[in-house]
Amino acid sequence: EKRIYRFGHDECGADVTEGTAHDNYTLGGKGANLAEMARIGLPVPPGFTITCQTCMDYARGGNAWPAGTLEAIAEARADLEQRCGKRLGDAADPLLVSVRSGAPISMPGMMDTVLDLGLNDESVLGLAAQTGNDRFAWDSYRRFIQMFANVVMGIDSDLFEHAITRAKAAAGVTADTELDAAALQGLVSTFKQIFAEHVSAAAHPELAGKDGAVAFPQDPEVQLTLAVAAVFGSWDCERARLYRRQNDIADNLGTAVNVQAMAFGNKGETSASGVAFTRNPATGEREFYGDYLVNAQGEDVVAGIRNTRPIEDLRHTPGLEAAGEQLERIFGILEQHYRDMMDIEFTIEQGKLYMLQTRVGKRTATAALKIAVDLEREGVITREEALLRINPAQLDQLMHPQIAKGAERNVIARGLNASPGAAVGGIVFSAADAVAEKEAGRDCVLVRWETTPDDLAGMTAAKGILTSHGGKTSHAAVIARGMGKPCVCGVDALRIDAARKEVAVAGTDLVLHEGDVISIDGGTGEVMLGAVALERPGTTGDLATVLGWADDVRRLGVRANADNPADARLSLELGAEGIGLTRTEHMFLGARKSIIQRFILADTSDERASAAEELSRAQEGDFYEILSAMNGLPVTIRLLDPPLHEFLDNPRDLAVRLAKMECEGASADELARTRALLARIDALSEANPMLGLRGCRLGFAFPELPVLQTHAIARATVRLKREGKNPRPHIMVPLVCLNAEIREMRAIVERAIIDVEVETGVRLGEIPVGTMIELPRAAVMADRIARHADFFSFGTNDLTQTALGFSRDDVEGKVLPAYLEGNIIPRNPFETVDEGVAKLVGMGCELGRAARPGISLGVCGEHGGDPDSIRTFYDLGLDYVSCSPYRVPQARLAAAQATL
Ligand code: ADP
Ligand code: MG
Ligand code: MG
Repeated sequence: EKRIYRFGHDECGADVTEGTAHDNYTLGGKGANLAEMARIGLPVPPGFTITCQTCMDYARGGNAWPAGTLEAIAEARADLEQRCGKRLGDAADPLLVSVRSGAPISMPGMMDTVLDLGLNDESVLGLAAQTGNDRFAWDSYRRFIQMFANVVMGIDSDLFEHAITRAKAAAGVTADTELDAAALQGLVSTFKQIFAEHVSAAAHPELAGKDGAVAFPQDPEVQLTLAVAAVFGSWDCERARLYRRQNDIADNLGTAVNVQAMAFGNKGETSASGVAFTRNPATGEREFYGDYLVNAQGEDVVAGIRNTRPIEDLRHTPGLEAAGEQLERIFGILEQHYRDMMDIEFTIEQGKLYMLQTRVGKRTATAALKIAVDLEREGVITREEALLRINPAQLDQLMHPQIAKGAERNVIARGLNASPGAAVGGIVFSAADAVAEKEAGRDCVLVRWETTPDDLAGMTAAKGILTSHGGKTSHAAVIARGMGKPCVCGVDALRIDAARKEVAVAGTDLVLHEGDVISIDGGTGEVMLGAVALERPGTTGDLATVLGWADDVRRLGVRANADNPADARLSLELGAEGIGLTRTEHMFLGARKSIIQRFILADTSDERASAAEELSRAQEGDFYEILSAMNGLPVTIRLLDPPLHEFLDNPRDLAVRLAKMECEGASADELARTRALLARIDALSEANPMLGLRGCRLGFAFPELPVLQTHAIARATVRLKREGKNPRPHIMVPLVCLNAEIREMRAIVERAIIDVEVETGVRLGEIPVGTMIELPRAAVMADRIARHADFFSFGTNDLTQTALGFSRDDVEGKVLPAYLEGNIIPRNPFETVDEGVAKLVGMGCELGRAARPGISLGVCGEHGGDPDSIRTFYDLGLDYVSCSPYRVPQARLAAAQATL
């Protein structure tokens, strides 16, 4: 088995690269793209990549080297030394390498990298002599010890940072860069001591000398072997696992390890390191975007340690102009080659440019749309490719609130507009507090100096992220954009004291405390005091263009689930082609609750009839509005579905009230009435309400219900017809499993329609009557049911519950997290339709069509808006999906992608 692939040039300058960009499952994304860049002639420091499979073999063997691996590494190292004309650890002119992680699917900042490997007490002198730069050599050595100790040995970096602080104090300087060679040499001794004190000889016998004491490893081979093992191990660290779970990345891919000759960005004023995007990843604008730092190594830029400079300054900086121009040419080459917006890491060593990484750039939804549309117009990609470039789930971001036009903004500070959208919430200063606030149901904004991968859970929980340090490519910015979270970063004016949970705003006497409400605008970089009014944006511009393209190619219809006129209008705006589900139970709540209560609890049939009439009239108004808003489009109205006790008072509350009344000496009459009421409600309580008296079963228990609801629908239809409108109601019977149920219900509904025709003298024509398919029996007996149903709508929420026997409310909190963690189940079946449930849906479709050719088939569960499920439904041959209004745009795009 080939474990190692070379990339870059040999000693004669000839390219010896073995992999390509397509090998990312073998070489990891970083290795594959390093290979690709080298292959197309870009300046890449030479190196080699150890495969992802080796990482998994190493892990499966209980962290033991698979046979032959160490030998292969030794051989690749010797080859690299030959290609570079230098040797690791050489006392005269040493080679230094980085040991870099790189997974098949990018997990930015999640895993580890060690820089400057190969330095030891001898080679540091060689590096100094070769470069004529003592300071640089000692600075590199102390960086290496610090990184090696942290990444490979797990020693807290703070120990080293504190030592640096002490050294600066001793030297009377404030910046790291002001420490001279002698001071840095002193730091190296201190660092080695810290290392020796914190590594246990028992855990690392290979580092112990004859006297049993641990010392910093001097042998480059030991350094390299330990570093590779540590990078392999980082695949399985906690934060990497969390990231994979959140991003649906498999746990069995492993990471590759790239061993690469170092390029030095810290060799003085004509050296620099930076990160860049070929276009603006926040807006998609065609402009160079990125940051760099002069005289710095790569990590310094992302860590937000010093404030960076914008990339366009590069070509105006003495000594860096040529590299800056070359970099801009390379932006163009990479975009043409990859046909996409790219993300780049580079280093300039004494004026010479090196490319250290590229990958397809992460971007916000706004940018994804703009870039796809622009690339199509530039002729770089086809319209189909443009559609496939956009992640449908990301469109959800665009439905997120923005600051309302004309809203008053009390701006207290400004920073970088790192990730668009607006957030309002109380300030929190730690990830843990953000999580706690979210759990308490409160919105919060996470305020940090800069975020680190350990803040991930808090960033997920917060509404928005605000930092005082770091540029637009800092950790906070990159992760926030990936999550679609608003982010403002690098707000210099903020003086954060996380320990005291307060933040002062420089230049003002403002001091904010935990819980104080602020608003941030990630589109402008503004930080505002108090809660600013938010609004939802519409579907215009690039979104409209892309959705228009999607509508041209998709064959699956998209409808919305809407229960009220406002949602109906919203779904139209977002492109719904009808309403796939109107739930009528919400219409019985609020002020109307007392009417339905009277209906349920009525003593006489007269009382019940009068309550029914009142309910019917109230519903008629709702249906009138919805049918009017959706003029000409189908509106599927579901008859009452939930168990009746949902409309009644909670018996426990009522019992408490009764006890109180007894104490307070209420009249005997009143007490008797309340007791009777409580008895009634108790009688209606069920052991398992979701499988009890609900759905069409209600219609058999209370035959007035389907009649009064149908009357309301039919009368609203008559009114609209009289106004010359084109109402298109469809009446849907819920929770059917027996064909007699739909047969009887259909008869009741049809008679009720005739009642209204007689009453009004208006012919209503055929109002389609259909059924939900949400029980397994209905799916497998769908041919029988189809005889009495004009349409099916698959209720995949209940179908998932009943097919898997998962009570959603119980399982989502208790069972599923463990199942997902343990890979017992691949996805949450309530988010993405389960295979078995899909099989039932497919069976229902086939049987339904066989019995009634042309029967209309839709899906109205949550899955109707989920892109992966939409592909499944398209493949099963459904006619349409129906989802919540805000998911309509993503459903339109996903439906288009399913056909491509
Ligand atoms: P990550 O995946 O976290 O970005 P990288 O492997 O890309 O980790 O490395 C971390 C930093 O070190 C980056 O800024 C990168 O540019 C820099 N770096 C990595 N290898 C080299 C090298 N051979 N020469 C100079 N800088 C390097
Ligand atoms: Mg990187
Ligand atoms: Mg249901």
